[in-house]
Amino acid sequence: MTNPRTCPECHAEIPPDAPPGVCPYCALRAGLRPESSAGAAREPGAPPSPEELGRRLPDLDGFELIGPGGMGTVYRARHRPLDRLVAVKVLHAHLQDEASFAERFTREARTMARLDHPHIVRVYDFGHREGLYYLVMELVDGVSLRQALADGGFTPAEALAVVPRICEALQYAHDHGVVHRDIKPENILIDRSGSPKIVDFGLALLTKPAAGTRLTRQARVLGTPHYMAPEQIEHPGEVDHRADIYALGVVFYEMLTGELPIGRFPPPSQKVEVDVRLDEVVLRTLEKEPRRRYQQARELSRDVEQSARGTGTRRHRDRPSGQRWTPTRGGRRRGPRHRPDFEYRSTRTVWGLPLIHIAHDAGGERMALARGIVAIGDMAIGLVAIGGFAFGGVTVGGMTVGVISLGGLAAGLLLAIGGMAFGGFAAGALAFGVVAAGASARSMLDVSAQTMQWASLAAWALATAVVTIIVAGLIVWWRDAEDGESPMFARTPRGNENDEETTGRG
Ligand code: ADP
Ligand code: MG
Repeated sequence: MTNPRTCPECHAEIPPDAPPGVCPYCALRAGLRPESSAGAAREPGAPPSPEELGRRLPDLDGFELIGPGGMGTVYRARHRPLDRLVAVKVLHAHLQDEASFAERFTREARTMARLDHPHIVRVYDFGHREGLYYLVMELVDGVSLRQALADGGFTPAEALAVVPRICEALQYAHDHGVVHRDIKPENILIDRSGSPKIVDFGLALLTKPAAGTRLTRQARVLGTPHYMAPEQIEHPGEVDHRADIYALGVVFYEMLTGELPIGRFPPPSQKVEVDVRLDEVVLRTLEKEPRRRYQQARELSRDVEQSARGTGTRRHRDRPSGQRWTPTRGGRRRGPRHRPDFEYRSTRTVWGLPLIHIAHDAGGERMALARGIVAIGDMAIGLVAIGGFAFGGVTVGGMTVGVISLGGLAAGLLLAIGGMAFGGFAAGALAFGVVAAGASARSMLDVSAQTMQWASLAAWALATAVVTIIVAGLIVWWRDAEDGESPMFARTPRGNENDEETTGRG
């Protein structure tokens, strides 16, 4: 079996039937028609030499090659009049004569000119001289996130420190009507102080064009396969800023685990020592449907910063192969967490517990445990707990133990109602309590028959009210979550179901 070929630019697997030296995804990204890439592949040619550039761009000297990209080659140079180091991107020679590429390069420069943010590379100059399109920008003295990943990667704590800053930059760009559309490790640079800078606005989409500019939406698929949101592939004309949030989610997952979230991928906490709550954060960025994702980069940033407390310092590659980190909460090592088949966990928490946690295992091999303020599960522990086994304040279910308990077998400190009930006031077929009512009831106190009747009536009324309130509340929350209107829910299926076709994998 031959090893699959991988594109050095976008890291996608190249299908076996692609012509030699051509990555169909990069060809697509560069806007070439598939037939032209499949047929006569265009020779990129060698990038201009530093001497040639010095001659053609007299304000700049001391050119040194930094790296080639899909659209252009980037050099480090000195801007002579201001005597400062800059980065210069020169459009690839074989694209210089194509009006569409010149136009796109111009748009890239103008888009960057709209943006002034510490985590976005600033543009200084743009021009067309001696048949050369060039862009002069702030030089980032560092490495790309791709190189950083290759050189040892990030500890979870480092990843959690970098991602909010990228969010800040994205939020700023989005607020200024710019969707990047090509967020990936190659386009995020990390300077020597560890601070990220976003580069490459070559595919950016303007959602608020300048006066006089016509807003055109690309119907073509543009982007880099594994980092593209499903809608960017399926409905490129409908892409909005949430596609960047998805792409950042892919980058985030890769920073934490060293792998891409493809197919049925495990949540980060199964691969690396992070708080299990971070799983929801990452999976929410990777939701297939934009409305289920974080709606704003700043919301993601906020949740990442919250999860950053107590995060491990070991990077994914430090762990011996085959060893799985058990998730930790508050720094304490816990047993491996079983992930139920079905799980909802609200992102809103109270005292460190999710406001709502719903967990169910359909297979029935294990019982899913829900723990939250409102917990619903095969086994549930919560202020309000509903389940086969329910423990907590108000408990409803098969076997229940709580302050107020309703269940087949119910034990309640104040009130227990059920087939078999034990408690302060116990009502049921078989009831034992300080005061008990039922077919076979044993009371510790003697009370009159009339008091007993009233007490029973009050207990049933209370029980009905509790059940009605719980059910009504859940229906409302559930419907909000289904409509994607409630920010309180994060749907967290086991892993995620991004199938390979939608991420463009060949
Ligand atoms: P392309 O549009 O061709 O992909 P990029 O703008 O992404 O080109 O640049 C290609 C590479 O050059 C980047 O991956 C990065 O490594 C490097 N690079 C780009 N801009 C800068 C910069 N301002 N400072 C330092 N290196 C840069
Ligand atoms: Mg690039």
